Amino acid sequence: MTEKTIFSRIIEREIPAEIVHEDDDSLAFRDVNPQAPVHVLVVPKRPIPSLADLDAADAELVGHLFVVARQVAEQLGLANGWRAVVNCGPDGGQSVDHLHVHILGGRKLSWPPG
Ligand code: AMP
Repeated sequence: MTEKTIFSRIIEREIPAEIVHEDDDSLAFRDVNPQAPVHVLVVPKRPIPSLADLDAADAELVGHLFVVARQVAEQLGLANGWRAVVNCGPDGGQSVDHLHVHILGGRKLSWPPG
């Protein structure tokens, strides 16, 4: 059995997080090391490791994560725009092997990322 990720432990309330949204399939909580005034992670409750592990059966769930991202951005007042980022694998900068969408906003973000 693979070890539980820190995000599964947050979903199961084994460790605390500042939760901003929850529904049957997803949880959204503030990033512990924010890179912008608003930095929230949206995660599926089902522990899919990364984008590289998706198949067609996951399409609805992944779409849901982005709808939640939009709802959270609205809820947190990001009317002037925001960014959704999904890091994938070591070269993509992924450090937690539980799929997550970063929502970043509250300041002008630069492009391209490093
Ligand atoms: P990534 O590098 O794309 O895998 O993003 C992982 C994110 O999880 C980083 O931005 C971390 O700051 C964040 N993170 C790690 N541990 C926690 C935690 N316990 N609560 C909230 N965010 C966390």
